Order: sequence, then structure tokens, then C-alpha cells
Amino acid sequence: MTRLTVTLPHAVYPVFVENGVFDRIGALAAELLGRTGRAMIVTDTRVDRILGVRLSRTLGRAGWDVTTVTIPPGESRKTIKNLLLLYRNFLRHQLERSSPVFALGGGVIGDLAGFAAATYMRGVPLFQVPTTLLAQVDASIGGKTGLNLPDGKNLIGSFTHPKAVFTDPSVLKTLPPREWANGLAEAVKCGVILDAPLFEKLDRNVSRIMRRDPETIGPVIRTCVSLKIKIVQKDERESGVRALLNYGHTLGHAIEAVHAFRGRTHGEAVALGMGGEAWLASKLGMIDREVLNRQTRLLHAFSLPVCDSKLSASRVLKFMQADKKNHKGKYRFSLPERLGAGRFGIEAPDALVRQAIHFIRREKDDLIQ
Ligand code: ADP
Ligand code: ZN
Repeated sequence: MTRLTVTLPHAVYPVFVENGVFDRIGALAAELLGRTGRAMIVTDTRVDRILGVRLSRTLGRAGWDVTTVTIPPGESRKTIKNLLLLYRNFLRHQLERSSPVFALGGGVIGDLAGFAAATYMRGVPLFQVPTTLLAQVDASIGGKTGLNLPDGKNLIGSFTHPKAVFTDPSVLKTLPPREWANGLAEAVKCGVILDAPLFEKLDRNVSRIMRRDPETIGPVIRTCVSLKIKIVQKDERESGVRALLNYGHTLGHAIEAVHAFRGRTHGEAVALGMGGEAWLASKLGMIDREVLNRQTRLLHAFSLPVCDSKLSASRVLKFMQADKKNHKGKYRFSLPERLGAGRFGIEAPDALVRQAIHFIRREKDDLIQ
């Protein structure tokens, strides 16, 4: 069993990455907490249909008295209203300070259930059980929880670490293709900005990865998780090197917002964002054009968008204004300086940022015919 460890000054916890760990969650959680008792599964209705009974069963077998609460799937459900729904269910099931919450689902559930667990009775134990590729490689590691306000995404939240993360790549089999690509965008990001051998591995194994071959995907997830753990250990609160993980996200978040968080998945927006930001890096003389081209080809092979001729440059820039205000009126980026290494806090002139958006707006080029 692969057991990675997150070691922070105030929290040390395991991340299990293994096919088959899912059906051992009950016993592992009991061992980690040194007890059983009442417990709550928080999930969405779709994941509940696929995995709800299986999780209840492993918990029940280990002696947990478990109830499930579900919310409908989707980013738009990360609301105060659903947070209240979770609290009310915790009360109804008489969860106590020592009763754990199991967040079963993608990033949306991890964020919302994580915040509910962080705040109910000033905090109850949390276990993350990520079921999307995005949540397994990215969102479940690092302790960020949160929810949206009508005014914007993730405006409420906390840094709250789980007691453990249970990552079972075999539960990804039922994931829709678009959700698969969504997670691959974050894996490509890790390769480009942190780890050249990961990029090469993704590049060499496109068809195996698209077939979801477990022998290939397990090690890829493990590598992404290790990379993220290393970064979070160095800089938990994103005051320094953790900002590297925002590669593709400065433009990506604005593109997501332009689509009102509906038309494009997070990974699709980040793929477009990485295109624009790699172009910036090449114009600033940080990388060769060939790195941008290789990234474009890989993203395209993973069924991710690499250009968008309908993207409105003025609307993207409008959404980037808020970000700019936070940085003394300058656009700031995390950019690669070669394949597998990057720098954060790079300022780029307004005109070049505008051109980067125009690069994203280009018509399909011969790289991706
Ligand atoms: P993320 O933020 O990780 O991309 P979400 O929490 O928005 O993910 O979930 C994306 C969608 O995938 C939701 O509709 C969810 O119900 C569905 N989903 C999550 N895990 C699975 C799975 N293992 N199999 C099938 N569908 C899943
Ligand atoms: Zn992301």
C-alpha cells in the first residue's frame, strides 16, 4: 500500500494512493482515530448512486454508525444554503466533536464538506475520499476548503487538513470523459512547471492514459500527489512557492469566469490559460517556443481545448482587473523557465497580456490539425 505523508507544523496525516484502498476505508479510519462511533458521509447524488453504498458498507463493517447526506452535483451547489443543509443533517444525526465527516466526491464536495467539517462545533475530523481525477491529483491535497458567494468563487473558506486522504484510482472508471480531461489538465500543469520527467511520461503514454490503464494512471496520480505535498509542506498558505501551482490559472480563472463557471470545466479553462501563459513565457524569453508547442500538442491529445476564437479579450481582461488590484496594479504570473521548472510573481506588461489572450483566440494552427 502506498502511504504518502503530509508533514506540517500543526498536522501530520497520510495520503493513501492505491487501487482497492476504498474498501478498507472503514478499518483505516477507525485505526487512525482510535475509535468508531457516529459518522457522516457527504456526497453528491450522482456519486452516491455509484459509490455511496460501497462506502457505507466498509464503514459499517468496521463498526461506524453512518448516515449519508447528499446534495445535487455541480459547482453551483457550493452555496451557503447547502452548507446549512449539511449542518442541519449533522445535528439531526447527532454528530459530536469526535464524529468524522467523509467527503466522498470531486472538488465540489471536498470543498463544501471540508468547510462544514472545519466549522461544525469548531471542527470535527475530516476524511477526504476524492472520486474525480482532478480531486485526486490536486484538490484533495493542501487543505483548502470553501464555498462560493453570489459575488464570486471560493470567497469563503479555510485551510483545514483532513485526518487522511483515501485515493483509489480504480473508482475513476465511471468518470465521464470530460471529467477525465479536466483532471489531466492539472497533471500537465505539474509536469510543465515542476517535473519534466512527469511531462515526458504523460507525453509517451497518451493512449494508455486515455484508455485509463490503471498501471499507467496509478503512478501518474502518485507523482502529482507527491509533488503537491512537497510544495504544500514548503508553503502551506501560498505566500511563496505554492503560487507555482497557479500556472495557467491567472488567465484560466478569468476564462472560467467569462463562461460564468458553466460553459467550460476548470481544466478546460486552465488548458487555455496555460496556452496563453506559455506564450507569455516564450515572449519574455523564459522558454523556447518548442516547449509551448509540445504543451499544445499534449493538451490537444488529452482532448483539452488549446484555442478559442470566440473568447472575448475585453471580458477576460475585465475579470483580471480584480486580480491586478491585489498586486499593485500589475499582472502577475507563475511561468515556466524551462520544461519542469518555473518562477512565480513574474510581472507582465498590459500590452503583452492582451496579446497572450489574442494568442488563445487564434484559429486552429497546424500543430493541432
Ligand atoms: P471536480 O471539481 O473535481 O471537477 P465535481 O465535484 O464538480 O468535480 O464533480 C464533477 C462531476 O463528476 C459531478 O457531476 C460528479 O457527480 C461526477 N463524479 C464524481 N466522481 C465520479 C465518479 N467516480 N464516477 C462518475 N461520476 C463522478
Ligand atoms: Zn486548478
